[in-house]
Amino acid sequence: MNNLLLTPIEYLKGVGPKRADTLKQEAGIYTYWDLLNFFPFRYIDRSKFILIESITETDNAVQINGRIKSIQEVGAKRAKRLVAIIEDSTGQIELVWFKGIKWVKPTLQIGAKYIVFGKPTKFGRKYNIAHPDLEKVESNKPLIGGLQPVYHSGDKLSNKGLNSKGLENIIKNLLPQIEGLIQENLSPELLSKFNLISKAKALLQVHKPLDFYEVRSAQMRLKFEELFFLQLLLVKQKQIAQRKSRGHVFKVVGDLFNAFYNEHLPFELTGAQKKVLKEIRGDLRSGIQMNRLLQGDVGSGKTLVAFFTLLMAIDNGFQTALMAPTEILAKQHFQTIKEFVEKLPIEVSLLTGSTKVAERRIIHERLENGALHLLIGTHALIEDKVKFKNLGLSVIDEQHRFGVAQRAKLWRKNKIPPHILVMTATPIPRTLAMTFYGDLDVSVIDELPPGRKQVVTQHRFDSARLTVFGFIEQEIKKGGQVYIVYPLIQESEKLDYKDLMDGYESITRRFPKPAYQVSIVHGKMKPADKEMEMQRFVSGISQIMVATTVIEVGVNIPNASIMVIESAEKFGLSQLHQLRGRVGRGADQSYCILMTSYKLTEDAKKRLDTMVRTNDGFEIAEVDLKLRGPGDIMGTQQSGLLDLKIADLAKDGQLLQYARNAAFDLVSEDPDLKNPENVRIRQELVNIVRNRPNWSRIS
Ligand code: ADP
Ligand code: MG
Repeated sequence: MNNLLLTPIEYLKGVGPKRADTLKQEAGIYTYWDLLNFFPFRYIDRSKFILIESITETDNAVQINGRIKSIQEVGAKRAKRLVAIIEDSTGQIELVWFKGIKWVKPTLQIGAKYIVFGKPTKFGRKYNIAHPDLEKVESNKPLIGGLQPVYHSGDKLSNKGLNSKGLENIIKNLLPQIEGLIQENLSPELLSKFNLISKAKALLQVHKPLDFYEVRSAQMRLKFEELFFLQLLLVKQKQIAQRKSRGHVFKVVGDLFNAFYNEHLPFELTGAQKKVLKEIRGDLRSGIQMNRLLQGDVGSGKTLVAFFTLLMAIDNGFQTALMAPTEILAKQHFQTIKEFVEKLPIEVSLLTGSTKVAERRIIHERLENGALHLLIGTHALIEDKVKFKNLGLSVIDEQHRFGVAQRAKLWRKNKIPPHILVMTATPIPRTLAMTFYGDLDVSVIDELPPGRKQVVTQHRFDSARLTVFGFIEQEIKKGGQVYIVYPLIQESEKLDYKDLMDGYESITRRFPKPAYQVSIVHGKMKPADKEMEMQRFVSGISQIMVATTVIEVGVNIPNASIMVIESAEKFGLSQLHQLRGRVGRGADQSYCILMTSYKLTEDAKKRLDTMVRTNDGFEIAEVDLKLRGPGDIMGTQQSGLLDLKIADLAKDGQLLQYARNAAFDLVSEDPDLKNPENVRIRQELVNIVRNRPNWSRIS
């Protein structure tokens, strides 16, 4: 890169050492180049004004062109505010500041013309605009139209005069200096194929567009570039992993597989299950280590697919592991699979935190001498003491609960790494899957076993509780079981706990012993007590399970037919969907009842509507992404990958797909990026990896 672009930001006209410090701390801007890559997040159309008389409550933000009529400080010390009245030919409106009065006041001048931008709020019959964006119109200059960029700022930057307008000014000082210095980093082929403008042009236009057409073409170019390099990195990583990771070759679909398939499977596999098994089978005989993510909604039959995959490995003489995030789940898998293998010559053991030392010793021994074919368990499986004779395949259930590092640990359990199948019941929006698991292969089970009835979901206000209790009673009389789930949110733990206990009380009063048994499970209980209560429910002794969200993860109780979620407005969409997945596992019609108060935010309403409208986990995941954004969905731990400057994974799905295809095409045509026309691309990739070392191994 040209040296001038790497000039420390303090040397830019209008910056200096003090502002430079704030720019570094608050916005990560160290150099000219960083500043150029600090993009506006929106633009104000300076050519459109609204007349004050036609402002309405529904206006999100308005732009007014008027004269300041009066300026006044109102109120006592603490509650002091600055009020200016601005008028145009049709009326007046108040501008109000509660903060930064001493900065704002000197910029206001009675009788001068200003362009005001902000959100109007109604007070009685009058409107005002709090903390508007304000720009003085010089009387000798004609009003220039065009677009004004708006930059993210903050208190600390604003206090140094670097509000959006201030940032705009220093960037305008920089733009004339960079002419001729910006190098292209995409190939001519990509530019023409996707009809993209040059990098140099895009950087100028994004900061100083003439019209929205220029904004769009600049954004499109910059977004494509950002997504393209992200994908290219992932595709390259996958390529490297495949070159390095020799995998065990599973030559045969053997006797165990066939015996189970032909003689013991009580039902036909769904089309989706067959399709996925074919994909897995392809991986397992390819000679390259499998790294496959299996996505499928709750109840779609992932466990069975996992079991068939395990059989393939065992058939080929290898040991296998199945890891689950909780003890309850591990046990449940153990029981399910023990039933499956009853008539098959397969040795299975369970290893969890509570496995007794003596038993543990036997398991270790049988693992090392190869007697054990399948070990099911929790995190206990990845402890260093656990050594396999020849681990060929690891299946990880509910993948999102395991960190990246833990996944890696399982790999290292063998000289040749085992094949890895990760399963998740939390559907991940396509764009996120492409990014987070960009170096994994993804299989999707998008079909439920036949005869499954859709869970009927209803939203009820708290006032309907007696009716809901009546409904519960009927269902229990018919032999059903009921979950009643309470939220547990860290910040208000005490309050939530009280809600839970109050709820439990009123439920035991409404459903008294001995006719009814009510179980309760929450985070403050000892593990053994939890386990016991859970077991009471699993075995059908209790009909009602009152719980906090600890039951969220895949427990399978086919008899449960009602899921009541209390304070449903406090739950996120994916959590609600997970919880709903606990019912509807048997043949009977199941119900999910979302209880809420009357006070609901817009977002909460959208979440509830979505739940009532659809059972499709992927559709729900897409809505969730739009409501929460990618960082919140995947957890902050991994959000480094989502530090996108300009692209938005919630909105730019199409462009992401193009960028990913382009990256794949490129790597398949020119695996080492050696063609002269791809030189720039390679250089850029090297820079990215050098600047972000934490990307070197994403999964
Ligand atoms: P998941 O792990 O995807 O949530 P499971 O594997 O636990 O789902 O399957 C849920 C239930 O569906 C289990 O009781 C399982 O036996 C049953 N099941 C799985 N596949 C089929 C199928 N093809 N036909 C009928 N029932 C199936
Ligand atoms: Mg499952």
